[in-house]
Amino acid sequence: MTALDPLQPRTLFFRPQERNIFFHLLTACNLACRHCYINPAQHGTAMLPLATVTKWLRLFFDPAKQSNLILLGGEPTLHPDLAAIIKFARELGYQSVTVDTNGFLHHDLLDRITPDEAVISFSLDGPTAAVNDPLRGEGVFATCTANLKRAVAKGFDVSLIYTVSRWNIDHLHQMPALLAELGCKRFFIQVIGLRGKSAKENELNLQVTPEEWLAVVPGVAREAAARGIHVIYPKVYLEPDEPFQCAGNVAENYFIFPNGRVYLCPLCEDFPLHTFQIEENCLVEQPGITEKKLFSLDIAEGCVMNKLLQPGNIDYDEAGHPRHRISCCLLKQEIRP
Ligand code: SF4
Ligand code: SF4
Repeated sequence: MTALDPLQPRTLFFRPQERNIFFHLLTACNLACRHCYINPAQHGTAMLPLATVTKWLRLFFDPAKQSNLILLGGEPTLHPDLAAIIKFARELGYQSVTVDTNGFLHHDLLDRITPDEAVISFSLDGPTAAVNDPLRGEGVFATCTANLKRAVAKGFDVSLIYTVSRWNIDHLHQMPALLAELGCKRFFIQVIGLRGKSAKENELNLQVTPEEWLAVVPGVAREAAARGIHVIYPKVYLEPDEPFQCAGNVAENYFIFPNGRVYLCPLCEDFPLHTFQIEENCLVEQPGITEKKLFSLDIAEGCVMNKLLQPGNIDYDEAGHPRHRISCCLLKQEIRP
């Protein structure tokens, strides 16, 4: 790989002039994926009414910054007012709105919004039903890919998210061909987190090692890009000369839940460590120990939350120094075709 290599990955450094609002409208879902990260014990089971959603969208909109809205659940298309929420956000001034869906697209979403109003991001964890459906549910591959094709045919900008784990890493190489066949031009490769059910299934050892990740993911990303697909995937392991940055200190990401909790770090979502609570439509900073205290810790391993949650994925040399520093989970790299 040389500096002139057109398929060389580029790190997407945090941008202070941008804010990303990850808005969980509800926690309910029609599926029961084996690695689901949703945690009703921490975030409740409510579905936010439209009137509350619009108030909170105003609360987080900053006209001085590029504001990107990502609508999540549970399954966000179960919300009967999703189309109205998308239209309201665009009218308010959010520059981009993305709906992260499991592909079922309830309430005829594609017929109720236009392609310039939202990007539709589909989750699929295998290139075939035989790989995907044991993880996400019987018949999910067929429904998700059919609806993705329908979205492409209607002119929507679509992307596909693949969560890499020990269950499916061996099948990732088949994804570029599937994306090309589906007409999907953007591919997000995710790494499985130790949250929700995947934390409970830890004894199954779903995490992939640095060696497994590096042996598979960058090569598949290049192959997808060579087919004309824009690929975004987590940095995960920093090179010795790359700086560590915690997004909680240098970026604006808000992860909002229906019970009013607002986190700055997604790895903290399984704990009552949220920085803010929305109270009577105001953002109230929480007293005591919150995630913000962790962001200020400077450790040789990189991300503090990773060290606390998954120390097993850090290797040390004989002198006790970590062989790899772990980047912020929000740091991504991309290859543009
Ligand atoms: S589609 Fe998402 S929210 Fe629904 S069960 Fe699967 S991981 Fe959980
Ligand atoms: S993942 Fe780690 S580095 Fe990123 S915001 Fe959370 S604590 Fe900070």
